[in-house]
Amino acid sequence: MNQTVEELSSFLSHPQKIIITMHRDPDADALGSSLGWASYLIKKGHEVTVISPTDYTANLRWLSGIEHVLVYEKQADQVKCKNKIAQATLICCLDFSALSRLKDLGRIVEEAPAPKLMVDHHLEPEHFAKWMVWDTHAAATAQLIYKLIKELEHDAPVTEIFDIPMAECLYAGIMTDTGSFRHGNVTPEVHLAVADLMLTGFDSSRVHRLIYDNAPLSRLQFLGYVLSQKLVVLPQYRTAYMVLTEAELQKFNSSTGETEGIVNYGLQVENVVMSAMFIERKGEVKISFRSVGTFSVRDLASTYFNGGGHKNASGGRSEQSVTDTVATFLNILPEYQQELLNVD
Ligand code: 5GP
Ligand code: MN
Repeated sequence: MNQTVEELSSFLSHPQKIIITMHRDPDADALGSSLGWASYLIKKGHEVTVISPTDYTANLRWLSGIEHVLVYEKQADQVKCKNKIAQATLICCLDFSALSRLKDLGRIVEEAPAPKLMVDHHLEPEHFAKWMVWDTHAAATAQLIYKLIKELEHDAPVTEIFDIPMAECLYAGIMTDTGSFRHGNVTPEVHLAVADLMLTGFDSSRVHRLIYDNAPLSRLQFLGYVLSQKLVVLPQYRTAYMVLTEAELQKFNSSTGETEGIVNYGLQVENVVMSAMFIERKGEVKISFRSVGTFSVRDLASTYFNGGGHKNASGGRSEQSVTDTVATFLNILPEYQQELLNVD
């Protein structure tokens, strides 16, 4: 046990009032790791409240414990969230390391008196947490939660610690953050963690189906529209990009979830090594970047688009118009051209 885990172990040996929160627009890793950690802490006798800064997509509604998640953005939940945070004795911050990723909840968490525990795998963390379980080599926060729980339980057999719903929550996070075990972040540790979790006996194929083959027809029709009408490829920069305006989203009645993951399709085009997606929503432009190999979209996102993330998957946002944001992107491409051409 390292010192952080030892301190946590001793802190958690008494019942605590614990908040678990994760980044806005939480994905399966953010919610899966939070709910897996919540189940563990509840089993250990703690009082646990999970708070998401914003709503989440419909394909995550099956995760065990999600029915108790409070959504800070919802008027009906806000007072309860504030009270719970004020009374908390520990605030766990999962799958993010910058308080701005909590949207309006960031300030409330920052000002709360309780010590914070950060469990995360993003680069360049802020230093607001008393305890940091932080490893950029981990493929998912869910992988770090798995490891942390094993350590706290002195490596006890997985079936003594995890039940099927907990294992499914963590598996969902690892599966999605590795692109179903395809991305460069897959290591032997990822497969070993998953193999161990699978000993609980959950159905991994069902988890995959619930997340990926569970879309409303409108999402597929929207995807068809984007790929046929909106995908632009710039072979000289080995780049693909898509721009979606608020009017287009409204036309397809698209919720946040329906745009999620579409940026990845740009990388399926031959020779393309960077894909970008610009989405105009609620007066700002949300940008998603994906890349392969040595090209870092994180640098590009943090230098030009107030964002960050991982080397091959990052995001940012802009308060300029969508046209100006895309113009900025096109203007900076020459600066990156050589690097883009050099990717294997
Ligand atoms: P997505 O494109 O799926 O929204 O985000 C991909 C990754 O980029 C996320 O896992 C997260 O690490 C990072 N990311 C997305 N948006 C932001 C942002 O606004 N700020 C920062 N720092 N990172 C972001
Ligand atoms: Mn993650």
